[in-house]
Amino acid sequence: MPEPYANGSQQSPIKIDVSTTLPVVYPLDYLVVDYPNAELAGQLLADDNFYFDVPPTIQYNGVTAPLQRIHIHHKSEHSLVTEGNEVFFDYEIHFVHPIPNPIDQTSETGPSTNVVFGVFFKISANATTPKSIRSLNEAVRARLGANKVRLTKNDPPVTANINPLDFMPKNRSQFFRYEGSLTTPNKDQTPNPERVSWFVYPHLIEVAQGDVEFLVAHTEESPRYTQPLNRRFVLRNFS
Ligand SMILES: [Zn+2]
Repeated sequence: MPEPYANGSQQSPIKIDVSTTLPVVYPLDYLVVDYPNAELAGQLLADDNFYFDVPPTIQYNGVTAPLQRIHIHHKSEHSLVTEGNEVFFDYEIHFVHPIPNPIDQTSETGPSTNVVFGVFFKISANATTPKSIRSLNEAVRARLGANKVRLTKNDPPVTANINPLDFMPKNRSQFFRYEGSLTTPNKDQTPNPERVSWFVYPHLIEVAQGDVEFLVAHTEESPRYTQPLNRRFVLRNFS
């Protein structure tokens, strides 16, 4: 069951109503995704996150931040509303980039402590699943098999070499942008610290069910409900 609304005024995820997003022209170096187009070694751990041994980086607003981890939610956490229709997608992958040495890390509000990308996956029978998604699925199958027993802290991690760009849409030039929080469930419904700069990509990745089934069975995270937008605006960098 998704978690109900938390308190707080700038929580994530949110419903992105495309018709009310505001077009903004960002400088070219506002976000630079420096991930190499190469397979990078890493480990899937018992917390359902894949960690890169040597994290690739992004540059956001002049700050270099490492891609610490990626994980998958089922269904998507964010939704897109176009022409009045709200759509959730089959999966949403999150790329978490902690900002090194953020100002006053303990504060609930303030400058960002993380930059997170959200990318939607859609199951499609005719999809050609990107290679590294298939590789990670295969690595999970080889280690954990078809039963849905998950990794525990005592198990050795699932190791794999994956190209992080395979988990991003081919068209990465367009994004939605807003300020929010991590979406980690809080059983006591306290708000998450509201210090996450979100990039949500409108272009999705199509994958074949058979190419992700072991990966998602062993790693999927429950989605949190979409949270009230309150006084925020969602921006977009395209017209
Ligand atoms: Zn997430």
